[in-house]
Amino acid sequence: MSQLNPRQREAVRYVDGPMLVLAGAGSGKTSVITRKMAYLIEQVGIPGRHIAALTFTNKAAREMKERVTRLVDRKLTRGLTVSTFHNLGLNMIKEEHAHLGYHPGFSIFDAEDAKALLQDLMLREASADAGDELNDIQMTISNWKNAMWVPGHALSRAADEREQRIALIYQRYQEYLKAYNAVDFDDLILLPVQLFKTNPEVLDKWRRKIRYMLVDEYQDTNLCQYELVKLLVAERAAFTVVGDDDQSIYAWRGARPENLATLKDDFPSLKIVKLEQNYRSTSRILRCANTVIANNPHVFEKALWSDHAIGDEIRIIRCRSEDAEAERIATEILDQKLKKGIEFRDFAVLYRGNHQSRLLEMKLQAYQIPYRISGGQSFFSRNEIKDAMAYLRLMINPDDDAAFLRVVNVPRREIGPTTLEQLGNYSRGRQISMFKALHNLGAEEHVSERGLDKLRRFAHWTDRTSQRLFQEEPIPVIKQLFTDIEYEEWLHQHAGTPKQAERRMENIWYLVDSIQRMLDDGKGTADEIGIEDAISRLILRDMMEQREEEDDSDKVQLLTLHASKGLEFPHVFIMGLEEEILPHRSSIEEDNIEEERRLMYVGITRARQTLALTYAAQRKQYGEKIETIPSRFLDELPEDDVLWEGLGDTDAAANQRKGKATLSALLGDLGA
Ligand code: ATP
Ligand code: MG
Repeated sequence: MSQLNPRQREAVRYVDGPMLVLAGAGSGKTSVITRKMAYLIEQVGIPGRHIAALTFTNKAAREMKERVTRLVDRKLTRGLTVSTFHNLGLNMIKEEHAHLGYHPGFSIFDAEDAKALLQDLMLREASADAGDELNDIQMTISNWKNAMWVPGHALSRAADEREQRIALIYQRYQEYLKAYNAVDFDDLILLPVQLFKTNPEVLDKWRRKIRYMLVDEYQDTNLCQYELVKLLVAERAAFTVVGDDDQSIYAWRGARPENLATLKDDFPSLKIVKLEQNYRSTSRILRCANTVIANNPHVFEKALWSDHAIGDEIRIIRCRSEDAEAERIATEILDQKLKKGIEFRDFAVLYRGNHQSRLLEMKLQAYQIPYRISGGQSFFSRNEIKDAMAYLRLMINPDDDAAFLRVVNVPRREIGPTTLEQLGNYSRGRQISMFKALHNLGAEEHVSERGLDKLRRFAHWTDRTSQRLFQEEPIPVIKQLFTDIEYEEWLHQHAGTPKQAERRMENIWYLVDSIQRMLDDGKGTADEIGIEDAISRLILRDMMEQREEEDDSDKVQLLTLHASKGLEFPHVFIMGLEEEILPHRSSIEEDNIEEERRLMYVGITRARQTLALTYAAQRKQYGEKIETIPSRFLDELPEDDVLWEGLGDTDAAANQRKGKATLSALLGDLGA
């Protein structure tokens, strides 16, 4: 407690009613949440199992849990819920699946599975390839779900023909999900909310379980998540939420920063605490953040200050090309490591879009700089892992059609498309899963004897393996599974070089090891889990984190601005500060600069000691070199706190913008 300032202490100690901590970046909001959990357990005497703290990423949840276990005796934290919204929803659905009409072992469709199902629906029902429209349809359905619209509601509210059509697809989509005993990502929140609204007994049970609730990054909750919170806390309103409207960066996914303002209406006794001291960044970095965000209109006024030293200037580095930009970042990191002894892990490079990391990765590799990507090509999006996960999903839920379709011919079983199509028709006609259809399918369905035979063999093998998985030691059964299907041989035929095939097989064994670890971790304790839980946790982890590795070895961190929320790093680079990148082109077109500015604010405020912003004067686009325009956000930075580097005589435009071609700028140009 002594490490907190008076306002933070007040926020931690206040337990008499609903509370909102509204404060800017780095002011200790997350610290208040972790401290408050400790306080609730130790001082207020609420058992850990009755407290739930929610956040948005697994990484954040993990860090939070670690911090609490450092503060409080391990025995007292038993049963404490520190998780993502989605994980909590998953646990609720698991426990209440019967009320929802789901069977145990239901599948969770990730975005790709859901898309495949939608595509399939479009082809079948409208005999039209959804093509480009698919993303749009998926997004619309997701937004409806986040706004708690059931298909009937969407149908009656549809504003035009397009929405009418999507509402119909939505309806069918839900029917199929149910038939497949599957839920999608949005359902993880929506289903508990629907259940709680219709079943007071179940709601009551959960209200008794969760006696105090805390939510981090509250500005990024969507309507459905807010509803879940409201339902759970009820009139008792024992909760603390913390947030910063300036860091709301998920509006495109249905987040509603206005949930912050709504709180006061919904809970008139809401106590609001504002924190104003930033403990993270140098004064200069903070000043930059404040000046940039001042360009957005504000509902809540916040004044952030820091008593840290003024610190180095914020460097803006102009590079000739995107290649030079990546090279510059790599050499800077190496240089600072050698000269100042800064460790690799203390550097983070942030960017707007995933694709921006590719070039940088190549340069880092060339200089043998170790790095880790969060939010990029994830472990789970590798083909071999998707295959393996599909097999495992099928084993715990044979009705998972997406999984079935993924593996039925991988490795090749020579089951032809006609056979599969007939199987598909049969299953759709009866609204049953393909796997169930397989068992019922008779010769009268015009499936060739050979096709039928192969399908049946596959079904038989699946049934047997699935049974063994639950009856025997699961790990040897899983290993046997991959031997049975001759996956390694398949990889050698399909995965390019023998080395690549080996690496892919190693990934599979890594996955199996992870399952083993999950099973071992809880053994003999209250947290012991079975194989089914282990697999569904893996599926969820896959979707949530796109690989947030637990590995904390000495590596440079590469991540998108979105993924950087809540985190902090001593030295930060933000790359691609150009119009159409940051701010992003689509946001410029939609006149949504404010959200991009918040993203910029999030990026700046991740830095503790130094911050460098880079851009490329020329960039290749569709094979052609184009002249870029430096981001408007660069102009919004306070002139006295920035240092422009890399402005040569040739770049008249940029020179005009800032007539600051200092010596270091010229030197920088040589380096760039
Ligand atoms: P963000 O808005 O980025 O999520 P936040 O408000 O959650 O930031 P924290 O991550 O909790 O802020 O805290 C930022 C940093 O300041 C952390 O390193 C934390 O340990 C430190 N900190 C918080 N409060 C104090 C304090 N009273 N004294 C010293 N350091 C503090
Ligand atoms: Mg935080």
